[in-house]
This record gives sequence, structure tokens and C-alpha cells, in this order.
Amino acid sequence: MSHDLSRLEAALANHPRVELVETPTPIQKLSRLGQLAEFNGCNFYVKRDDLTSLGGGGNKLRKLEFLLGEALAAGADTLVTWGGLQSNHARLTAAVAARHGLACELILTQSGVRTDDDYQLNGNVLLDTLFGATVHRLPLGAAPDAYAAERVDQLTRRGRKPFVMPLGGSSPTGALGYAACTAEILQQADALGVPFQEIIVPNGSSGTQAGLLAGVALSGSSTGITGYSVLGTAEQTLATTREKTRQTLQLLAPSEALDESAVKVDGTQRGEAYGAPTQAMLEATRLLASHEGLLVDPVYGGKAFAGMLAAARDGGFPPGSNLLFVMTGGLPGVFAYRSAYS
Ligand SMILES: *Cc1c(COP(=O)(O)O)cnc(C)c1O
Repeated sequence: MSHDLSRLEAALANHPRVELVETPTPIQKLSRLGQLAEFNGCNFYVKRDDLTSLGGGGNKLRKLEFLLGEALAAGADTLVTWGGLQSNHARLTAAVAARHGLACELILTQSGVRTDDDYQLNGNVLLDTLFGATVHRLPLGAAPDAYAAERVDQLTRRGRKPFVMPLGGSSPTGALGYAACTAEILQQADALGVPFQEIIVPNGSSGTQAGLLAGVALSGSSTGITGYSVLGTAEQTLATTREKTRQTLQLLAPSEALDESAVKVDGTQRGEAYGAPTQAMLEATRLLASHEGLLVDPVYGGKAFAGMLAAARDGGFPPGSNLLFVMTGGLPGVFAYRSAYS
């Protein structure tokens, strides 16, 4: 069995793109974890999108390939974006700007659940300043998008050419990065001879899952995709992911209708709030680290990985299922959350 990726690849080729990721990133089997009886014979694989080298790596680089393509085509000289103080997207935007000789302005908001010094000063926010970005710290509850709009006005009046990216880089253009990743995954699946029943991914601003869904839709694959929402409720995230998938398909193949039942969001792992550690996240992180020597972050990967393990334990997948977990990076977050692990 092999996938016909010509339609997807031709549609992607219409969009400007700057290479930032060494592809393909590896797919590896988690053999020791898969041998534990509690997981009912599931075969766990990981797609190592944490192994992207620029700026410490992570899923935002794939989105930034298309976002930077759009920015350079528009003649931009400054990248502007926003997020939480420990935003991986902000950190990688800063690194990409540095690599391409652009200025970078980051608008970062405080967290309602983490206030200690590690969160305030370590992890991503430490790296933002090393990459030379200008960081604007907003108080809890301030509206970063409104602040960004004001800042863009100021910069424009000074003759600069800012390019604005939304939270997580999850515009339809950004999501194209994960439509491209789908083609990569399906090619690897063919080469390995492993059909993946389900791809599992964390869902924050929804661009990663939307891009994967658009890619699967245009390649005729029967692979399912489950997103674990870590930011919104399941209902909110489902609605956002559907909308972003539709918009991404609109960019790639306007005649393609979205099969709404393909959009699957699980809200059981978020816990109290975005960025609030959960017991299941801590246990899943320790299990993966101690059995496989691999690391997931506390905000995204740890929660989604916990969700996949819980589903496997509960018999949610037939024995012998091949499950592909997308490792999305975010390692600096581990250091910002030091006190959660101790
Ligand atoms: C942003 C991020 C995600 C979620 O991606 P979205 O496209 O925002 O849903 C997952 N993992 C990590 C480490 C991230 O930084």
C-alpha cells in the first residue's frame, strides 16, 4: 500500500516557503513502553518534531516555514507575535528572526497559574532575550492582540514593515506546515510498512491538528487524528479546529469539503487551566523519560502523552494498533516548571 501524495504536494507548492526544518524528522518506535502489559499490545511510535535544530526546535518551525515565506514576500523587516510568557512559538519566532536578519517583537502575558521565578525568568523567556528579541511583558488579563495592533501602528509610522502572526502561529498559512508534515508522515509510513491507525497530537491554538487534518483529507489516507486540548475546553477547541481546518483546506483545495467527523478533540487532559500541571502529565512524563530516555514538555506534550497512555490502558485501541505520537518540542518549559516536578 502506498499513498498518492501528488495532489497535496502540488497544492503546497503554490505557497511561498522558507526551509527551516531538516526533513524528514525521524519516526521511532517506543519498544520498552509498548512491552508493558498495561498498554494492551499497542505499538507506540513517535514523530520527532522536537528534533528540529533551529532555536531549540519544536512544532512551530514547520508553521514558520510558511509564515516566513509570506512575511518575506510582503517585504517585512520585523516579526511580531504574542503568547504566554513561556510561549515556544515566541521563542522560535525570535530564533527565526535572528537567523534571517529580521527584528522581532514579542508580546508576552503572565500566567494565572505559575508565578515563581523559574516561570518568570527561565525556559523560553530566557532564550527570547538571547535571540535578541524585544520582549513586552503584559500583566495578567491584558489583551495581547490589541497591544500588538498598537505596536504595529507605531512601528509602521517609523517606517518599519512589521508582519504579525497570531497566537501559536496558527493562521491558515501557518497550518500549512502540518499539512506538509502529513505528506512526510505518510511517506515514512509507506517506507516503514507501518500503517498508523491514529496520529496523536497536543492541541493548543489548533494549527498543528488543523494542518494534519487538511493533509490527511487531501491524501485520501484513512489515518485518524486525535488532538488533546490543553488550552480551551473540548467544545471550544473542537469548533476552532474545525474552522481552522476549513480555512487551511480553502488555501490548498477550495473545492474540498471538510468531513466534520474526522475532527476529534479530547478534553480530558487539560486539567484546571492552560499550563496547570496535572498528576497524569507528571506520571506520563516520568514513564516516558525513565523507559525511553525521551522528554515531553509539561504544557502540551506531557498532557497529550498522558491521554494516549490512558486510552491504551482503557482498551481504547485494538491490540496491535500502531499509534503515532507527534513530539512537538517545548523542552525549555521543563526548566520553567522545575517546582512542579519536585
Ligand atoms: C504550540 C505547541 C503545541 C500545540 O500546537 P498548536 O498548533 O498551538 O495546537 C504543542 N506542543 C508544543 C511544545 C507547542 O509549543
